Amino acid sequence: MKTLKTVEALTAKLLEIQRINSAASLLSWDQETYMPAGGGEARAEQISTLQGIAHQKLIAPDFERLLAAWIDPETGEIRDSPGEAWDEPARSLLREVWRDFSRAKKLPSDFVVTLSRECSLAQQVWTEAKDNKAFSQFLPNLRTVLALKRQEAEYLGYRDSPYNALLDTYEPGSTIAALRPLFAQIKGRLVPLLKKIQQSSAQIDDTMLFHTFDQARQLEFGRMVLIAMGYDFERGRLDLSAHPFTTSFHPTDVRVTTRVHEHDLQSCLFSCIHEGGHGLYDQGLDPRYFGTPLGDSVSLGIHESQSRMWENCVGRSRAFWRFFFPMLQATFHHQLRGLDEEQFYAAINRVKPSLIRVEADELTYNLHIMLRFEIEQDLIEGRTRPEDLPGIWNRKMEEYLGIVPSNDAEGVLQDVHWSFGAFGYFPTYTLGNLYSVQFYQQAKLEIPHLEDEIAAGQLTVLRHWLGQKIHRWGRMFTPDHLARRVTGRSLDPEPFLSYVEQKYGELYGL
Ligand code: ZN
Repeated sequence: MKTLKTVEALTAKLLEIQRINSAASLLSWDQETYMPAGGGEARAEQISTLQGIAHQKLIAPDFERLLAAWIDPETGEIRDSPGEAWDEPARSLLREVWRDFSRAKKLPSDFVVTLSRECSLAQQVWTEAKDNKAFSQFLPNLRTVLALKRQEAEYLGYRDSPYNALLDTYEPGSTIAALRPLFAQIKGRLVPLLKKIQQSSAQIDDTMLFHTFDQARQLEFGRMVLIAMGYDFERGRLDLSAHPFTTSFHPTDVRVTTRVHEHDLQSCLFSCIHEGGHGLYDQGLDPRYFGTPLGDSVSLGIHESQSRMWENCVGRSRAFWRFFFPMLQATFHHQLRGLDEEQFYAAINRVKPSLIRVEADELTYNLHIMLRFEIEQDLIEGRTRPEDLPGIWNRKMEEYLGIVPSNDAEGVLQDVHWSFGAFGYFPTYTLGNLYSVQFYQQAKLEIPHLEDEIAAGQLTVLRHWLGQKIHRWGRMFTPDHLARRVTGRSLDPEPFLSYVEQKYGELYGL
């Protein structure tokens, strides 16, 4: 049997490349947390230089020669010699390394450096443009990044649409043809549900969430919840950034960030829980496989399923607040005086169309994604010009959510993604929402007392289950294979749709 031992020379090279990538990630983490504003241009050069080196190492002739001993470079098929088969980890590793290598090889190294530098610069211009609520300030950079991403799709190659090449980057195997009917199915159930909620006479009062809350106490509470989830601070950190994110340099160093708004209790709390879900995944990867695809997360959709499960299925559940509400009330005694956990549960689940995706409730969130999915396709396929974006954005907001932004900062400029070239990324958020409920239902089936555990503050039962079922496997299985392995079936929107219909039907008395 041929095993990982057989490909040791390959994994040694992968480890070296991963260390360079980890260093680049650390520089990006610093850029978002502590770097002085003046350091931006130099930082863009530092990161793009490292990424260029990592890319060159991956497509180097000696790496290719090594790979060609086990994989047919013409077909990408793993060579099987009679009587000596590959075991599953080695086979998966070769399949995934081939995927990374063949994609990287299609991109010229100078293109990789240019793309990295332009994205880093655009991200910084985007921050200023957003502060100034001025899309025109960002437009030249957006044009550059968009042109580079269209170029990238051409290099990578695609079927049907260049957008498919970009989708596949984030969610292997994902295509417009698969997403369109899926999104239509969700929209067909969510929009009528939303209408019923808006026409319902039930009034949910959420004013308690918008008093003044001491920032240090909010942060302390977020940290306490992270510890309860099993996020390991010996192998992690919590810092502040304008936009919460998770980054990992190794399973022993996984960092999350949050933000704190003095007049919004939900922002810090739920971003801690959300990023904590991402952080548990990265801390749960098998350190023995670090540097190889088996030590890497499988896709963004699966990654997001972890954060959304913790944020919504757990963090917005009655069981969770049965345990944590008394503690929150003790922390913010003055603001939450006289309230009970049921009122709090209703408040944090209030449905209301809003302008900002990251603040959207579980129902309307997916409508924000669908609007971006349509706009991105049109941009990448060249049907929409970047200068027309603000108008298009506002029209679609009106169509999907019935509200219109009053400025670009709460409209087309709200998300960082396009500035760093992440076209094709947004759909993974909705995939994550769907997967999250599908996985969570399976967890409840297999751990019948799960909600009792959560209600007792014992959250690590779930973390352990996720670790065994999902985290430890890295990219051993494709996203679809993983879903079938864990739940017995491929991605299915039904669990999510029944969950929201049941939860919100009850909450709004429908
Ligand atoms: Zn996330």
